[in-house]
Amino acid sequence: MESYAVGFARPDRRSWGRPVEDTRPWHAVAAHRPPDELDGEVELAVCGAIVQVWGSQHWERVGVGRTACPDCVRITAVVPVLTKTLTTAS
Ligand SMILES: [Zn+2]
Repeated sequence: MESYAVGFARPDRRSWGRPVEDTRPWHAVAAHRPPDELDGEVELAVCGAIVQVWGSQHWERVGVGRTACPDCVRITAVVPVLTKTLTTAS
């Protein structure tokens, strides 16, 4: 199963004039390395937002909270559901 680091949407990195959802600043970043190694790096979240990785946070915990990006929550929840569909087909 893929692991995710937690990214924080920084208002000062806002671009393209899009409004930033300040009340839900946490995004999921597909972690190719341990999250603490990615700490402080600017990465692309799974929903497409540019975020800075906050290595001390865990997506499993942040992702269930109300301050998590709803798109990231939905996208990261899709993977186990698809895997389950394959195993129930037999
Ligand atoms: Zn997101």
